[in-house]
Amino acid sequence: MKISVIGTGYLGATHAACLAELGHDVVGLDTDPLKIESLAAGELPFFEPGLAELLNRHVGTGRLRFTTSYEEVGAWAEVHFLGVGTPQRQGEGSADTSFVEAAVRSLAETITRDALIVGKSTVPVGTTQRLREVLRRHQDPSVEIGLAWNPEFLREGFAVQDTLHPDRIVVGVEDAAHERTLKAVYSAAEEQGVPFIVTDFETAELVKVAANAFLATKISFINALSEITETVGGDIQTLAAGLGLDERIGPKFLRAGLGFGGGCLPKDIRALQARASELGHERSMRFLSEVEDINLRRRERAVFLATAMLGELRGKKVAALGAAFKPNSDDVRDSPALDVAVRLFDAGAEVAVYDPKANFNAARRFPRLRYEESLAAAVADADLILVLTEWDEFKSMSPESLALLTPARKIVDARNVFSGDRWNSAGWEFAALGRKHAP
Ligand code: NAD
Repeated sequence: MKISVIGTGYLGATHAACLAELGHDVVGLDTDPLKIESLAAGELPFFEPGLAELLNRHVGTGRLRFTTSYEEVGAWAEVHFLGVGTPQRQGEGSADTSFVEAAVRSLAETITRDALIVGKSTVPVGTTQRLREVLRRHQDPSVEIGLAWNPEFLREGFAVQDTLHPDRIVVGVEDAAHERTLKAVYSAAEEQGVPFIVTDFETAELVKVAANAFLATKISFINALSEITETVGGDIQTLAAGLGLDERIGPKFLRAGLGFGGGCLPKDIRALQARASELGHERSMRFLSEVEDINLRRRERAVFLATAMLGELRGKKVAALGAAFKPNSDDVRDSPALDVAVRLFDAGAEVAVYDPKANFNAARRFPRLRYEESLAAAVADADLILVLTEWDEFKSMSPESLALLTPARKIVDARNVFSGDRWNSAGWEFAALGRKHAP
């Protein structure tokens, strides 16, 4: 099929390359000419495991092209996927849907053949109905343009695998022909037996934000229990294991630690609260503000532990291991790791940050921190080390291997990746989130 993907950020670039992998002819479109230039040259402007290879392969086969021209895709594609951003509105919790509206308007004004527009961005419930109005006002009435919503559930770090082998596909449609078109686009997933849920616009929009709200709540639930174990003692990881073995609960997203961040969960739970309030249901989603408070308190706890171990932060040298919001990503949007590094710096510590992939993005956001090109350089003169993102490179450290690189004998495990006993018995002062700290 001839498919365009509008917006080629994390979501769109992944979707475009994976559709080409599935055998479709794909054009990716973005309003950012630098991004398009880089993608067209087969170079991925961000890090995502396995994606650079796919991009390169299909730019090579000619099945994947890139453009900034709406006229080009409007005349050519039969299906247009929307993957533009829906960031948090400045100074408010609600989602800014102006990029989605602008993209639909540009498509409406340039589509010259019958086509289906399929939204993938995460949007507040009711957006698709509003976009239908935008379409109606701006399209050429002699062409038929359908609208559907197909929210995206991919996880950064696993984006290629999640796109090629999703847990489920949800489509909101109002016309059986549009359902057939989407089944044809995703025929490979159907053959793998991936559940295909066909529903209305509102349910499709809500499934996505509900999934993110639920995941955020699960993370904050275990982190709220961490606050109890930090006071009374007890082992938060054993508690999580005991909880997660209940099949109704499950073990995933029950890892106590520094909490969630990134370009999706924080903004999506704020947007859901804002939308619920607009609809007169402020109380229904009010608990999400507690979920967020618990999440932010984890960052305070990491700074508290660093302060407790060093006596005071001013003038002390601290190595912050990790800047990305999670491993296998270079995304630092709303990153708990980077936030902790900045808080330590603001409290007077000299902070050396090292992340295997996210130094560049972090330095663009917070140039005043010091960035090092290797783990060894970051810890070389440290008084204290904090593990803030659970990259494999950090998880594989042992007290002995790390002691060869640094004079520090103090470590904060903010991601619960180590056994405290092991580090203590090797002579390190060890603290972790969720565990009682005996200074
Ligand atoms: P992003 O900021 O990386 O990419 C958005 C892209 O859209 C940018 O390249 C921007 O230049 C482009 N753009 C903006 N306006 C445009 C327009 N009018 N026409 C064409 N291009 C335009 O964002 P992202 O992380 O890819 O997220 C995109 C959407 O997908 C959001 O709604 C997000 O919530 C959702 N989502 C993201 C993920 C993820 O893991 N990143 C997962 C699921 C859903």
